[in-house]
Amino acid sequence: MSAQDPRPAPEPAPASPATPWSATVRRGADGVLAVGGLPVTALAERYGTPLYVLDEADLRARARAFADAFGEAFADLGGGADVYYAGKAFLSVAVARWVHAEGLRIDTTTGGELAVALRAGVPGEAIGLHGNNKSDAEIERALRAGVGRIVLDSLAEVEQVAAVAARLGVRAPVMVRVTTGVHAGGHEFISTAHEDQKFGLSLAGGAARAALDAVAARPELDLLGVHSHIGSQILDLAGFEVAARALLALRAEIAEQTGRLMPEVDLGGGYGISYTGDVAPPTPHEVAHALADVVRRACADLGTPPPRISVEPGRAVVGPAGLTLYRVGTVKPVRLDDGAQRRYVSVDGGMSDNIRTALYDAEYTAALADHRSTAPLVPARVVGKHCESGDVVVRDVALPNDVARGDLLAVPATGAYGRSMASNYNLVPRPGVVAVADGQARVLVRRETEEDLLALDEG
Ligand SMILES: *Cc1c(COP(=O)(O)O)cnc(C)c1O
Repeated sequence: MSAQDPRPAPEPAPASPATPWSATVRRGADGVLAVGGLPVTALAERYGTPLYVLDEADLRARARAFADAFGEAFADLGGGADVYYAGKAFLSVAVARWVHAEGLRIDTTTGGELAVALRAGVPGEAIGLHGNNKSDAEIERALRAGVGRIVLDSLAEVEQVAAVAARLGVRAPVMVRVTTGVHAGGHEFISTAHEDQKFGLSLAGGAARAALDAVAARPELDLLGVHSHIGSQILDLAGFEVAARALLALRAEIAEQTGRLMPEVDLGGGYGISYTGDVAPPTPHEVAHALADVVRRACADLGTPPPRISVEPGRAVVGPAGLTLYRVGTVKPVRLDDGAQRRYVSVDGGMSDNIRTALYDAEYTAALADHRSTAPLVPARVVGKHCESGDVVVRDVALPNDVARGDLLAVPATGAYGRSMASNYNLVPRPGVVAVADGQARVLVRRETEEDLLALDEG
C-alpha cells in the first residue's frame, strides 16, 4: 500500500462502540450486507442506486436513548430536561413522527422544516424555531402553530418577533442565542473572546445582554432563557462545561440585578458520531450525565436553582442510522508522485448526495456490499460522477483490488446531512430515502426523476 495506508472499512460489529454501521447491519454467509433484515442487493434492485437507507430500529433506539438518558440524569435537578431533535440533520414526516414518539421534541430552522414537523402531527409546543435570518412569514407560521420557543439570533430579531406577536395578539416564548466564545468540534475546543461568525449574540461583547434587556422590555415576548450551540461532531465534552458555566453565570447575574431567574437554558447539540470506526463517541448516557454534573456543580457554585435544560442532537440521532448504497461504474488506477497507485472508484452519485467530504473534509469509509472479496486491498478513493475534482465521497479507504463496475458499495453513517444537504448539481435527480425494519422496506422520500427536474423548468 502507499504512504497513506488507508484502512479497510470495519466489518459490521454492532457490539463495537466505535462501529459506523447501524445496529441491524450484518454480512450474510453469502457475503451480502443486510440492513433491517433485507439484503442490500434486493434494496438496490427494487429502488435503484444511489439510495439512502435508514435503519428504523437503530434511529428509534438512538432517539429513545437520548430521551431516557436526559430524563434520568436530570430527574433530581429540579428543572428536568428536554431533548430536541435538530431536524436539519434529516427531516421527513415519518422521521418526525418516530423521534417524537420516542420522546423527543423537534428543532426546525426554516418554514420548510416547520411544515414537515407540523405535517407529521407534532404539536406546536414540542417544536422550536431557530435560524439567523427568519422571515416574518416563518415567524408568523411558528406563532400560529404555537411553537414552544423561538430562538432569537440578533437584536433586530427581538423587535421583529415582538412586532409579529403584537400583530397576531399572542405572546411569543423566546430564548436568546448567546455566543460564549467556545468553538468545539473534533477533539479540540478553543475559547476565544470574540467570534467572527454569523450566529448568536456575543456574551463578551455585550450584545447578548443588550438583547436580553430588549426582550424584557417587550410585553409580547416571554423570555424562557438563553441558548448556546458550540459546534458539531464534538467528541470531547469539555467545551460544553465552559459554555454551560458561562450561560449559568449570566443567568445568575441577571437574576441578581432584576430579581427574575430565567427558567430554561439550552446547551445545543453537536455530539459526535463514528464515521470510520476509529472513535467511540460518547453515549447519550455519558453526555447526559456529564452535562447534569456540570449544571449541578455550576448552580451550586452560583447559589441558583438549576434551570430546565434542553439539548439539540441532530447527527447523533440520525447519522449512524443511515447508509448510502452506490453502484460502482468506472474504476481507474492513478499513479501518485511517490510511485504508488490509487484506485479511483467512481460511483453513480457523489457530491450531490453527500457534500460533506467536499465541504468539511469529512471522513467516511466504504465497504463492498454485494459480495465478499478475498483479493488484496489497495488504496482507493470513492468519487462521484460530477464535474469537479473535489467530488469525493470517501477520500481514503482500502478496497479489494478486484472492485469492478456493477459492484455495490455501502457508505455508512450518512443518515445526517446527506439527503438534507443534497443538490441537483449536474441535474442529477436526488436519491430517495428508504426505511427498513424487520424485513420490510418503505419509501420515506421518493427518488426524484428527470420528470421532476423538467417540471420545474418553465422553458
Ligand atoms: C446544527 C445544529 C444542531 C445539531 O447539530 P448536530 O451536530 O447535528 O448535533 C443543534 N443546534 C443548533 C442550533 C444547530 O445549528
